[in-house]
Amino acid sequence: MQFIDLQRQYERIKETLNPKLQKVLSSCKFILGPEVEELEKRLAEYVGRKYCVSCSSGTDALLMPLLAWGIGKGDAIFTTPFTFIATSEVIRLVGATPVFVDIEPKTFNIDSSKLEEAIEKVVRDGKLKPKAIIPVDLFGLPANYSKILEIAKKYKLLVLEDAAQGFGGAINGSKACSFGEVSATSFFPAKPLGCYGDGGAVFTDDDELYELLVSIRVHGQGKDKYENVRLGINGRLDTLQSVVLLAKMDIFDEELQLRNNIAEKYSKLLSGKVETPYVPEGFFSCWAQYSVLAENEDHRKEILERLRQKGIPTAIYYPIPLHLQKVNSDLGYKYGDFPVSEAISKRIFSLPMHPYLKDDEIELIASSI
Ligand SMILES: *Cc1c(COP(=O)(O)O)cnc(C)c1O
Repeated sequence: MQFIDLQRQYERIKETLNPKLQKVLSSCKFILGPEVEELEKRLAEYVGRKYCVSCSSGTDALLMPLLAWGIGKGDAIFTTPFTFIATSEVIRLVGATPVFVDIEPKTFNIDSSKLEEAIEKVVRDGKLKPKAIIPVDLFGLPANYSKILEIAKKYKLLVLEDAAQGFGGAINGSKACSFGEVSATSFFPAKPLGCYGDGGAVFTDDDELYELLVSIRVHGQGKDKYENVRLGINGRLDTLQSVVLLAKMDIFDEELQLRNNIAEKYSKLLSGKVETPYVPEGFFSCWAQYSVLAENEDHRKEILERLRQKGIPTAIYYPIPLHLQKVNSDLGYKYGDFPVSEAISKRIFSLPMHPYLKDDEIELIASSI
């Protein structure tokens, strides 16, 4: 059994995908070819944004808006410590300071009731200038944007949605990648919409920001290819990856439905055995991960061992919250600073999740737990 079975998906799309890949190989337009533009149009339309700028990874998709905004030393960026390292990494790469805010115990997303407190504290301390919030749509569930955007407005903070796991999710019909000034997603193969290598995209409705992102994607280029007006990166998306993503977009909504059906089956079979995921009223998850909580660390260890013996792959997202990562040790956080994230990192684990998981597999996994 695979944790995320990309083979089954490939079997389904290969008849249509292979000739299209072959066409790109024959055209030799490998970088930012016409299919890249087609993909950007399609993605922007899908999430309901004016612009999409595709790029080389989810990490670059987070980095590019920070560069465009001129975020740097002395700036405070509020985010969650319960996420993938890239979220705080990009903040540090531009020289700004991540200010962590603990998560909600049920959604695992940033706790908006603690966000305001954290902003007030930074204002009081007077050392850093509050600039932006990076909420993460963890495991495919959008963060609480109605609250977050209200707080952002009050303190005049920018919002960068980390939807690396969130593409396909929604709140009351508004799609993930449409919240805040700008959104970033990842097309890493294991994400809900994945390509066959690294890839990502940035979304915005802002004309000026769009121009900046396009420039930053290619070494801060100006009007001409060899005129460089600002610091940028090599952040382009390959044409081959766009072709893969276009093929997967054709079946994406159906796959979302399949993921939701599987999550529902899991939750029914696992209720009372472990704590199953919570999706608030009006929210729609794209189930990047199906993550449950054991009672404690020993209970988790016992379950994971049993699953391992049956050949069922599992993963722990995330065993170490970002404030306790060695790379962030100079920020001065300590164990005990974010009790919810710390407790959940000891209890959480993720089960196989992909659209092609079969009923007998789900039943085997559930009965093994
Ligand atoms: C995967 C991920 C990223 C980074 O995406 P890459 O495409 O791997 O660079 C950023 N944030 C979160 C929450 C992620 O899960």
